Amino acid sequence: MEDLNSFNIERLEDIIASSRRTAIVTHMKPDGDAIGSCTALYHYLRMCGEKSVKIVLNDNFPDYLSFLCKDICTADIIIYESRPDEAETAIRDSDLIFCLDFNAFHRTGKLEASLKASKADKVLIDHHLSPDREAFCLIFSETEISSASELLYQILMETSPVAHDASALPGPTATSLMTGMTTDTNNFANSVFPSTLRMASSLLAVGVDRDRILSLLYNQYSENRLRILGHMMKDLLTITEDGVAYIVLDKETLRRYDVKEGDTEGFVNMPLSIADVRMSLLLKEEDDRVRVSIRSKKGTSANTCARSYFNGGGHENAAGGKLNIPEDISCIEDAAGYIETHTHAYFTSGNEDNN
Ligand code: 5GP
Ligand code: MN
Repeated sequence: MEDLNSFNIERLEDIIASSRRTAIVTHMKPDGDAIGSCTALYHYLRMCGEKSVKIVLNDNFPDYLSFLCKDICTADIIIYESRPDEAETAIRDSDLIFCLDFNAFHRTGKLEASLKASKADKVLIDHHLSPDREAFCLIFSETEISSASELLYQILMETSPVAHDASALPGPTATSLMTGMTTDTNNFANSVFPSTLRMASSLLAVGVDRDRILSLLYNQYSENRLRILGHMMKDLLTITEDGVAYIVLDKETLRRYDVKEGDTEGFVNMPLSIADVRMSLLLKEEDDRVRVSIRSKKGTSANTCARSYFNGGGHENAAGGKLNIPEDISCIEDAAGYIETHTHAYFTSGNEDNN
């Protein structure tokens, strides 16, 4: 991996040693990899003796990830949506800012302006395509990897305090890394590389309790989650002649099933289990826009489709974006037509590799 060399690790260690106040930021609507990489790094930096480390989030993490945050005092996790002034101050006062699991500042929502204005050293640790290289003083960017958590694991293993011995990682760091990798791979269903299994193996060997992680991640949902899943797959799923599966969840449906952030995690993948489906989209209506999740099978680029038609981007087979109301569609009822027209354009414009 190009960025992961002894020169960059030395620079990283120098930057950490000379910093006085550190902030860790990640993308809005943080998922398991976003929170897992942040909490993993937090505990590592505390082990290194860093006195002031703050995790600054645009919006709150979903409940099912709260087990990763419980060892961190509430003053050290600042959420812009509930404490905007403190979030801005934390970023402004930091001389070192770690940017995890995103490739450009606009992915951090309301933190974007403070990040742009900050003169701090900014270090990127990310696995998305096309990072904004100008924005960072040190970049660890790798796309042939499962997750930001795995990349962070590889970086930490190279540092002097850990020195290739996973048992030297703080326990909560090891648990957080395993969690982030597990959620981003959909529990080893996608984006698994030889290095991913090596990481899992060494974290298991040093005592990470994977059964507990799986139980906390996948066996603590509400009854409504399964009920809405049934409704979605039975009544709301449409499959087009191009092999595009899509589901639109309007505000009324989300309210009726009391859907919380994280409740529909993973659902967008399910239609890909159908032989003829090449791409799957899940749309969720918000106040002035519609959030879009896209997944695709090999040979079809969710990333290109997200970039071309859904104001977004992501990875080759897992991407996301949004439809703005009224710029893209005038109301949620227009979403189905928009999807059908634009995915048809995508499949007929020579984007697809027909192998
Ligand atoms: P999800 O569907 O799980 O929300 O997102 C899947 C992937 O697409 C993630 O890697 C995420 O970072 C990326 N992604 C989601 N929404 C956006 C967006 O609005 N813009 C960009 N550039 N990437 C996104
Ligand atoms: Mn990720």
